[in-house]
Amino acid sequence: MSDASLTPMMRQYFDAKTMCGGALLLFRMGDFYELFNDDAKTAAQVLGLALTSRAKGADAMPMAGFPYHQLDVYIGKLITAGYRAAVCEQMEDPKKAKGLVKREITRIVSPGTVTEDALLDPRTNNFLAAIVPDTDDPECRGLSWVELSTGKFEAATLPRRQLADQLARIHPTELLVPDTYGEEIPLEKIMVTRRPEWAFGFKTALENLCRHFKTATLEGFGFTDGKADVPALRAAGAVLDYLGETQCRSLEHLDTLIPYRTGRQLEIDEASRRSLEIARTMREGRRDNTLLGILDHCTTSMGARLLGDWVGAPLTDIREIEARQDAVAELCADDRTATALREHLRKVYDLERLMTRIGQGRGTPRDLACIGRTLLVVPVFHELLGPASSTLLRTLRELVDPCETLCKSLTEALVEECPINSREGGFIRDGFHAELDEYRRLKQGGKEWIARYQAEETERTGIPKLKVGYNRVFGYYIEITNVNRDKIPPSYVRKQTIKNAERYITPELKEYEEKVLTADERACELEAEIFERLVRQTIANRGAMHKTAAAFAHLDVLANFAVLARDRGYCRPRIVPEPVLKIIDGRHPVLDAIESQGTFVPNDTVSDDSSGRIQLITGPNMAGKSTFIRQIALLTLMGQIGSFIPAREAELGVVDRIFARVGASDEISRGQSTFMVEMTETARILNMATPKSLVILDEIGRGTSTYDGISLAWAVVEYLHDKIGCRTFFATHYHELTDLEETFTGITNRNVAIREHNGEIAFLHKIVPGAADKSYGIHVARLAGVPQRVLRRAEEILEELERTHVRATAIGVEKDPEQRKARRVANVGRIQFSLFGPDDHPVIEELRALNLESLSPMDAFRLLDDWRKRL
Ligand code: ADP
Repeated sequence: MSDASLTPMMRQYFDAKTMCGGALLLFRMGDFYELFNDDAKTAAQVLGLALTSRAKGADAMPMAGFPYHQLDVYIGKLITAGYRAAVCEQMEDPKKAKGLVKREITRIVSPGTVTEDALLDPRTNNFLAAIVPDTDDPECRGLSWVELSTGKFEAATLPRRQLADQLARIHPTELLVPDTYGEEIPLEKIMVTRRPEWAFGFKTALENLCRHFKTATLEGFGFTDGKADVPALRAAGAVLDYLGETQCRSLEHLDTLIPYRTGRQLEIDEASRRSLEIARTMREGRRDNTLLGILDHCTTSMGARLLGDWVGAPLTDIREIEARQDAVAELCADDRTATALREHLRKVYDLERLMTRIGQGRGTPRDLACIGRTLLVVPVFHELLGPASSTLLRTLRELVDPCETLCKSLTEALVEECPINSREGGFIRDGFHAELDEYRRLKQGGKEWIARYQAEETERTGIPKLKVGYNRVFGYYIEITNVNRDKIPPSYVRKQTIKNAERYITPELKEYEEKVLTADERACELEAEIFERLVRQTIANRGAMHKTAAAFAHLDVLANFAVLARDRGYCRPRIVPEPVLKIIDGRHPVLDAIESQGTFVPNDTVSDDSSGRIQLITGPNMAGKSTFIRQIALLTLMGQIGSFIPAREAELGVVDRIFARVGASDEISRGQSTFMVEMTETARILNMATPKSLVILDEIGRGTSTYDGISLAWAVVEYLHDKIGCRTFFATHYHELTDLEETFTGITNRNVAIREHNGEIAFLHKIVPGAADKSYGIHVARLAGVPQRVLRRAEEILEELERTHVRATAIGVEKDPEQRKARRVANVGRIQFSLFGPDDHPVIEELRALNLESLSPMDAFRLLDDWRKRL
């Protein structure tokens, strides 16, 4: 199609299209958003819209569209399907526009930049992140992330190997990378957006950031001039640049950039985070029935999001943990305050997201009314926390700010039921503004005036059925049925003919109409002005409101912890610096919360110098080994976010890292063999664990042959014992490993109690000292419904194997200690045999040295006979 043949509007369309990168362009035309050409085809497919055509013949163009009020729904669908959408709006009222309506792209929406409430989960953060490799150090990365709907903006410089862990923690929905970035992105279901190299430049970043924050340097935020912060700032610059390009509106609500320093939080790597199901379930990525899911009974979405942050980054500073615990304890002891806090928090709106909308110029009268209503509740918190004694609660009390003047303006100005549209008016209270009241009287006085006018005209003309009416197209009119046509006065001007009647206008009616219409218009304008003023006043209180929002979120989480502690019988763990662990009657937090009360069997965990830092837990499958070791990791994590824990009593030595290698997770989708993944994770644990770490291992070495597996598991435990000495819980069905207890003082055995009765077994789920003395594989197979015939045959084979002493994976049934010892020696001998191979046997040496060419068949036979005897 030649450019000249384009209508002005289509030229406008193509101009806009060049501005929106790869995004689908949603072009507003009257009451519809339309898509054209390839965009239309994509939309037809993704959104299920009917594909039509604009113009005919050579100028025909595929077209698809949807009604304007469904914008959010369709944007949501496009984003979920992995597309970006540019919204091109009409910038003036088409009725008033002279010539072509002015249109502009008002924003480009992508997964990381949605701010529409309808498209966001109120209880979770939606992060946009950027990665940039350092130019000098190939092992160094810059990472920055922003939550556009709340204004949280952070940046970090990290070693490359920590990138995946941080990304797993933040879980962004969109990731910006430089054009040339060639590394694997370790997250699924994420939109990767490539940006030009210059967008990650340091100079540009620094200039942009300083201009944005209106500062000369970024030192005030805690960034230094030194090289260390360069990658972090480059990533932050790229984030800001992208937002500037896609948002086309104020980003003023991003008012700080927080440096994120690693090493200050309890670190949990990506694999451990996944297998412990901290915030997402392993299979479906859902939030329910994860640790976060069962802890979140917050009353506000601000609280729920903060809890997510806490669970994502537990503390390591004992004083900080205790400060939270003190607050929880105080609220636990004072049930009335805790309950009252939660009750009033229910009346609080999402100040963080509200303030962002207002700041971005997307706020509605209803948003302002919500802020007003929230501020009205603030004094109650001040009062409730008056008697508080813990430092944290007192600090929070000081943070909440009722912003009295603003609160007064908002509540005085706005009606109870505010509309979400600011243009049509109707949200300012009567009596707030004299001029507005005057216009409204004029509009409302209308009814009386019309009734009077109708009565007068009926009387004057003698037409009994004369009626004054109004419609949107023709305005005011006098309607007279055709029967009375001859009585119509000459001053009546005909306006419209309808069935059986005619409609007329008179000079008086015309004059009245104008007055009413201008009154309406003026009223709307005036309301819009008042709205703008209130918006400005609200924005001026942003600082105070951020603090109030933060205080609400904190109070919500702390009161939530108190209520959980009360309802579920949690206890306050003592947090100590020594690397110890003592949990009496501990329960798995998730199973404890989702199963009916009393079903979960509590267990004790003690790990210190005398009871062994490394504990091996043996027992059949399904006994509860994994549950037990996961429970230890989850309780430790809960303790370090300041929550109380499901136990009768506990002492937790602060942990710097948690490593969990649990179960053979389904890694096939990631294209790696299970065993490779298992070993990569194990390698990472061995390389990174410190004496202050907590390691839980489940069935290490299972993905390879038995001897290989045992040898590896054995060596791993030895290494953890000798070189690291961290608290380790190792669940295994390799009973051979229980022999380690004899050789190493720091290793002890535990097993899960089983009751055996008439050949049937019952799992007691109770962890008891000592090694399991029997493997119950066949019993478990029976429980699982394996056919009798197979079970009987398996029993025969097992008996045979036990008799001939080559059982490798299950401990023998010897009760006599001497026999046990003998078997152990045999076992260890076998393990070493498989570890180092049969190389050192003299027969092998001879075989190697043999010269086959010079060997006669007879000699060969003799040699074979000799070897066989010697072996
Ligand atoms: P294993 O790792 O030994 O194969 P799991 O830890 O997977 O066993 O536990 C098997 C099942 O037993 C779990 O699904 C869980 O519901 C149940 N279970 C485990 N521990 C307990 C317990 N302490 N109390 C009650 N049920 C438990």
